[in-house]
Amino acid sequence: MPALLEIPVRVSGIKYDGSIADGPGMRTVVFLQGCDKRCKGCHNPETWDPKGGVAYSVQGLADEIMARSEFRRVTISGGEPLLQPEAVLALIRTLKDKGYDVCVYTGRHRSCVPQDIEDAADYLKVGEFMEELKTSVIPYMGSSNQEFIYLNEERLSGSAPCPK
Ligand code: SF4
Repeated sequence: MPALLEIPVRVSGIKYDGSIADGPGMRTVVFLQGCDKRCKGCHNPETWDPKGGVAYSVQGLADEIMARSEFRRVTISGGEPLLQPEAVLALIRTLKDKGYDVCVYTGRHRSCVPQDIEDAADYLKVGEFMEELKTSVIPYMGSSNQEFIYLNEERLSGSAPCPK
C-alpha cells in the first residue's frame, strides 16, 4: 500500500478559481477521471474512461492546487470521485490541513458516501444527474432531484442522520 500522499489519482482536468456553480464562493474544481453511471445528457463524457486523464499522486495534485488556487475553495467532482475513495479522502485531508474549504460532488446516494469522506468534507452534493429534471436555477444542482448538503451546518445543528 502506498504512503498516504503517494496514493495515485487519475484526473481529467482542473479549473483553477474558475467556478461559482460548484459550491459556495469562487472555487477550483478538480474533475477526477472515471465514471460508471453513463447518465443521459452528461456534460463530461470525457471523464468516463477510468484509464483516461492524467495520473498524479495525491501529494502532486494537492501541491499543484495549492500553488495555483488563490481562494482556498476546492470542489472534487468528476467523473465519479467515489471510484477513487482513498485518493479523495487523502486529498480532502491534505487540503483541510492547509485551511481549504472542500466540497465533494457524487452521483451516488448519500448512503453510499464513505463515512470518513463525509466526516472530512465541508459540503456534499449527492444524487444522480437526471436529464429530465435538469435545472439551471437551483444553486449547485445539475438536476432538481440532487441534494446539496452543508455538512458543517448539520454538525452544528446536530441534525445529521444517524451514523451508517
Ligand atoms: S455521474 Fe456525472 S460524470 Fe458520471 S455520467 Fe453522470 S453526469 Fe456524467
